[in-house]
Amino acid sequence: MMMQTPLTITQMIKRAETFFPKKQVISRTAKGITRLTYKEMAERTRRLADSLQKLGMQKGDKVGTLAWNTHRHLETYFAIPCCGAVLHTINIRLAPHHISYIINHAEDKVLLIDADIVPLIEKCQHEIPTVKAFVIMTDEEELPETSLSPVYHYEELIENGRNDFEYPEDIEENDPAGMCYTSATTGNPKGVVYTHRSTVLHSMALGMADSAAISERDVAMAIVPMFHANAWGLPFAGVWFGTTLVMPGPYFTPKILAELIEQEKVTFAAGVPTVWLGLLKELEEKKYDVSSLRAVLCGGSAAPKSVIRAFEQKYNIPFMHGYGMTETSPLAVISTLKSYQEELPYEERLNIRAKQGILVPGLEMKVVGHSGEIAWDGKEMGELALRGPWIASEYYHDERTGEAFSDGWLFTGDVVTVDEEGFIKIIDRTKDLIKSGGEWISSVDLENALMAHEAVFEAAVVAVPHEQWQERPVACVVLKEKAEITKEELIDFLKPQFAKWWLPDDVLFLQEIPKTSVGKFLKRALRDKVQEELQK
Ligand code: ADP
Repeated sequence: MMMQTPLTITQMIKRAETFFPKKQVISRTAKGITRLTYKEMAERTRRLADSLQKLGMQKGDKVGTLAWNTHRHLETYFAIPCCGAVLHTINIRLAPHHISYIINHAEDKVLLIDADIVPLIEKCQHEIPTVKAFVIMTDEEELPETSLSPVYHYEELIENGRNDFEYPEDIEENDPAGMCYTSATTGNPKGVVYTHRSTVLHSMALGMADSAAISERDVAMAIVPMFHANAWGLPFAGVWFGTTLVMPGPYFTPKILAELIEQEKVTFAAGVPTVWLGLLKELEEKKYDVSSLRAVLCGGSAAPKSVIRAFEQKYNIPFMHGYGMTETSPLAVISTLKSYQEELPYEERLNIRAKQGILVPGLEMKVVGHSGEIAWDGKEMGELALRGPWIASEYYHDERTGEAFSDGWLFTGDVVTVDEEGFIKIIDRTKDLIKSGGEWISSVDLENALMAHEAVFEAAVVAVPHEQWQERPVACVVLKEKAEITKEELIDFLKPQFAKWWLPDDVLFLQEIPKTSVGKFLKRALRDKVQEELQK
């Protein structure tokens, strides 16, 4: 038999402090770049934990953060769960009524808020009675005027906390450690609760050689927000492994990201496709040394093949495609070629890697179609279901649990194919598939094909209702600066790649495509916009 030592987040920060005291966290804040060693960061984390306990934070309490990717936010990632409380990262880009809904639903007791987000919380402070203290994540000098009360500034909590504070030892691995709400198509956001155990195991998965392979040697930049599925777990894995972490802070632009990559010699960065599209544009305009990058990880929505190709062929940056969701911690699937696939010609390799990839070790999958589990032939479609130790088993206090969870599986709501090698390809979200004459059209495939055209910056395809066919695809296209192209030319470009009935009925040229809070195409808003345009 083996020991039953609990898997806790406390081990992670202790390891960073013990083995990597000289390694750094590099953080871009409103004031400029701050550099902290893990020794300093671990000390600040202990002091913060002590002060939060003095403010009344107890085991099991939810503590909300409304913050960008900075060293302070990173410290809360450890100070809160290592005391047995629950780190509730709140998506600051949600609608204000959703923000107050989730603060109430989670019953947050303390809120830690970045200075620029204070006005948002001031507006709803009378609607969130469970909150007993507000902490503004600044020092005294930067503290804004505020009506929030009682209010503290972050650096005073650090100063007043004890450095010899000891984390409690009674934390069990299945205790809740974090929580995150995911936006629902209709209705209020749904809460997912992560445990210490799920966080530790998920971090291990990020370190595996055939997954993201995060290691001590990396300089890892979390571009994906820390309020979005824990920045894909990078802060936890990075600290545990002694990785140098780069936190790009608030309101970063592609230019700021390119500069950080060059200056800090970033080796690994994680973000959604729109981030990578923006970076490509920046790299095309100005020369940067990005040779330090060993990989960029892209997930959240499908990475267009054209983007993967541009990164790799033009800039020599290996591009890693992954798939997951808030409910899956999020890493579930990652596109790493098998050794014998490495010998294939580039185009074939690209085709495989543009798929989302194969299941990360530790998880199990099945794909259910109209008549049971689908064949792995790369053609038959079905809904992906997942299970494993870092997959949620329910939504937090929510009647909608039954919509996604059944028989011990999470039904992801994503329609996929699986090829003979086990590579999963996301065809669409169930709700975004275009159902034309009883057949399915993948909006994602059309989008990726359009984005491969040199005149196109971004493209999104949505369904519009149709009398005869039920639904038909319409493409919305944002052109690159100074590019010119007609509707007909774009459709002609698609013709050789798709069956005739897949071709969009119309192409609308837009200034921008509405995006969700995390930079994905907002299909709901786009469908409304398209209806409006078509009725003009
Ligand atoms: P939401 O966007 O609903 O707030 P998540 O951020 O958890 O929630 O998004 C999860 C969803 O994002 C998945 O169910 C899937 O539809 C989509 N997704 C994630 N990664 C990819 C990818 N690499 N390719 C295509 N779709 C993806």
